[in-house]
Amino acid sequence: MQYDFDIVVIGGGHAGVEAARASAVLGAKTALVTLSADTIAQMSCNPAIGGVGKGQIVREIDALGGLMGLAADATGMQFRMLNRSKGPAVWGPRCQSDRHAYAAWVQRELSRTENLSIVQGEAMEILVANGRVAGVGVDGGDISCRAVIVTAGTFLNALMHLGEEIFPGGRYDEPASVALGDSLRKCGLRIERLKTGTPPRLAAGSINYDRCRRQDGDEVPTPFSFLNDSLDVEQVPCWLTETTPQVHEAIRANFHRAPLYTGQISASGPRYCPSIETKLEKFPDKTSHQVFLEPEGRDTDWVYCNGISTSLPPDVQEFMVRHIPGLEDAKIIRFGYAIEYDYAPPTQLDATLETKCLAGLYLAGQVNGTTGYEEAAGQGLLAGANAALSLAGREPLVLRRDQAYIGVMIDDLVTRGVTEPYRMFTSRAEYRLSLRADNADRRLTQIGRATGLAGEGRWKRFRGNVEAIERARKIFMETRLDGKTLWEYLRRPGARPGKLIRQMPTEVGGELAELLREHPSAVNGLAIDARYAGYIAKEQSALRQMQELDDKPIPPEIDYASLRYLRHEAREKLQAIRPRCLGQALRVSGITPADITVLQIHLATLGSGKKT
Ligand SMILES: Cc1cc2nc3c(=O)[nH]c(=O)nc-3n(C[C@H](O)[C@H](O)[C@H](O)COP(=O)(O)OP(=O)(O)OC[C@H]3O[C@@H](n4cnc5c(N)ncnc54)[C@H](O)[C@@H]3O)c2cc1C
Repeated sequence: MQYDFDIVVIGGGHAGVEAARASAVLGAKTALVTLSADTIAQMSCNPAIGGVGKGQIVREIDALGGLMGLAADATGMQFRMLNRSKGPAVWGPRCQSDRHAYAAWVQRELSRTENLSIVQGEAMEILVANGRVAGVGVDGGDISCRAVIVTAGTFLNALMHLGEEIFPGGRYDEPASVALGDSLRKCGLRIERLKTGTPPRLAAGSINYDRCRRQDGDEVPTPFSFLNDSLDVEQVPCWLTETTPQVHEAIRANFHRAPLYTGQISASGPRYCPSIETKLEKFPDKTSHQVFLEPEGRDTDWVYCNGISTSLPPDVQEFMVRHIPGLEDAKIIRFGYAIEYDYAPPTQLDATLETKCLAGLYLAGQVNGTTGYEEAAGQGLLAGANAALSLAGREPLVLRRDQAYIGVMIDDLVTRGVTEPYRMFTSRAEYRLSLRADNADRRLTQIGRATGLAGEGRWKRFRGNVEAIERARKIFMETRLDGKTLWEYLRRPGARPGKLIRQMPTEVGGELAELLREHPSAVNGLAIDARYAGYIAKEQSALRQMQELDDKPIPPEIDYASLRYLRHEAREKLQAIRPRCLGQALRVSGITPADITVLQIHLATLGSGKKT
């Protein structure tokens, strides 16, 4: 049969963009169907990319050949490395973005991607034939295809809340997507509800910055993309102010009008990005909370009030804003609001992000219960790649927990599920000393290259960096100062290659200086390896033990109900998740090492034909 497309991606958010580009780059004829071509890559909430844990994901997307890092570098207005006071393993690159420029940059990039067509319209139905996906019903007509990736974000059956007012909508001024949510249910997916919220936006000209503290970017901005050595960018400041006791009093006095507390919203929201109402409830003794005033772009007057996400009624939001230092005369351009939406609990997916209930149907992004642009983009890239690889009859792209934060995230999602919007933290990664922002290329570019996602130019640069690392490693290992190798010196707190160069013999120092000048991020990354060498060795040993379990596959046809010696709870949970290996089984919440032993014995006896 002749199909219109190989793959249809529904949704042009951060997940959809990476999914569509990845599948097109891998040679699949791809259509990106989205409600409006103008809102492709729109930032629904804060105009920023990266952060702790999230910045690592952006570097990984870039190392694999994705778009987000390049778009952030091209359109960032202020760059900061977060967590600098802590060890480099948990440093998180972040930038304040020009949200219009960001979306425009991505839209331009997609328009020149081969194999990719943009279709403006509402996807309403997943079409099924012979037990697998056969197309998408769009308001303008049906599109036939062999695989569909749904990345509809916060739009499915979405309801917006502004005080007592409730109205359907997927994002401010945009319609909710009702038919598609219903169609996913018909495909056999279980659907639940989550919520998130956003703060008011202010007019920059109406803010009195003299009453706020200025926050500048790093003197030398660190790029996200491994394709950029440095960034030539005129950075803009952000500003810091805070809530006051008067603001808190007004919020408390209006709890009876707050949708979060009146029962109007019952779904869970992001614990680590709470509304100002939730902050007051959780920290009743605090008399102020920080408010970051972040410009939304170079050519716009809009300012994002990071820290006071709220769904309180407009009159309360007006009062709140007026009683924050610097905002006494501030004009609110758009009120904050909360949004409740459908998501599909991600334990219904396998590690390629394909649904277990319908072959050829993939889900990525906020529809899987995550929050954040970076989390969405990371899933999008993997879903797009996997859909294309599967159609080409190639091996899937599954990243392990020791290879990438993206691997940690997807394993967490499909193995443990979510009870609130999932966002990435460094604490979620057990191998975080190895999963650093600086070495994402060393972990992933080869994989990107083998898959076909990373292009020739990226591969050449990467090879150059690897050679520089090998030369620098030799110098570190073989050069001695006062009887100690430089490698040992680098373990000392505060030791840096740049500092050591000054103490070294000129000929060696000269070579190292050249390597550092030409491959700064690679050589500094190697120095971090030296600093953490002992701890990384311990991580590797724990990893080897875990890998033994990860290497033991569980046959997909296993009938857990028949395993008499397995606890009832374990049988139920394993039956629902159907882990692909013993390692994944151990990570299912509520599964104990004793359960794994029972499973191991069962697997060992399978061949012998005995029953357990
Ligand atoms: C009000 C609000 C507050 C938020 N607050 C935060 C926050 O504080 N912190 C944080 O990290 N993240 C926050 N987010 C989440 C962040 O915006 C998302 O995590 C991220 O954008 C998800 O990306 P996505 O690609 O999954 O979906 P989205 O960016 O939502 O994109 C979905 C896309 O799907 C399209 N679409 C939907 N239905 C259809 C259909 N039927 N047919 C065709 N196209 C369709 C839409 O047009 C859109 O292009 C917030 C989002 C909202 C809306």
